[in-house]
Amino acid sequence: MAERFQLRMARQEGERIAKEAGFDSFPICPRTIASKHNIPIEAKPPDIAGVSGGIIFVNNQAIIFYATNIENEGFINFTISHELGHFFLPGHPEAIQEQGGAHASKAGFTQGDSSIELEADHFAAGLLMPEHLVRTHINRNPPGLDSILELSSIAECSVTAAAIRTAECSRDPIAIIVSSADTIAYAFMSERLKDFRPRFLRKGSALPNSATAQFNKTLNQALSATRTCAQTTFSDWFGGEHSFVMDEEILGLGQYGFTLTVLSSEEVPELDDPDDEEEDSLVESWTPHFAYGR
Ligand SMILES: [Zn+2]
Repeated sequence: MAERFQLRMARQEGERIAKEAGFDSFPICPRTIASKHNIPIEAKPPDIAGVSGGIIFVNNQAIIFYATNIENEGFINFTISHELGHFFLPGHPEAIQEQGGAHASKAGFTQGDSSIELEADHFAAGLLMPEHLVRTHINRNPPGLDSILELSSIAECSVTAAAIRTAECSRDPIAIIVSSADTIAYAFMSERLKDFRPRFLRKGSALPNSATAQFNKTLNQALSATRTCAQTTFSDWFGGEHSFVMDEEILGLGQYGFTLTVLSSEEVPELDDPDDEEEDSLVESWTPHFAYGR
């Protein structure tokens, strides 16, 4: 629980930094924010495969770099925002300085075991996609992959980050799953979907028998940004007693062989006892220990 609060606070700090820099509409430019805080940004060939970027602290000066082999402008924005997270989030500069002052990142929600990497990813998602702007976008578009792709385009961020942010902010039952071959890399569910008590799709667990599993059997599809869709049911993916129909939209993410699946539904049954708002009230009473004013 504590970790979830920490991640929410990281997202809110990202939103606060964007607002403080004067941004109140899409797209939010992390380069402008870095420049307002006198942080130079450099493109640099990666020393280690898979490294998206990094931050260096020398003599009270921070320098951000991102890997030159990233071709996607949205992912560059996400990477720079992740590094800004290491600058602004409480405890991050200290943790990095303890390790010699240089930090190499793997941005993009894949490093589930490292708390500072996850916090920086959530900071980046909040900075590039503040909740009120995402909600406005969601309210104007039917839930699903088209809405996510449009958000990624107007917010100038990666498709996976837009997908995760949509699941976090949506009031519809929606889940997003990133997979590779027969394995789930990570999954996010909207609060509304959680009302139906799904089994959790854990990192590293097997994909259920589904159109996504079939899709992934042809590696070329994941690599070539192929898109398809199918019908599924809630219980096919999440078990339990609910078997309402869901759309299963599938997109090959290219390059690394990952696949994005978006599950959504517009015809869900009424629930007698949806989850209460307990968590929200707990968050409101939780005092963040963020270092303001830096
Ligand atoms: Zn990092």
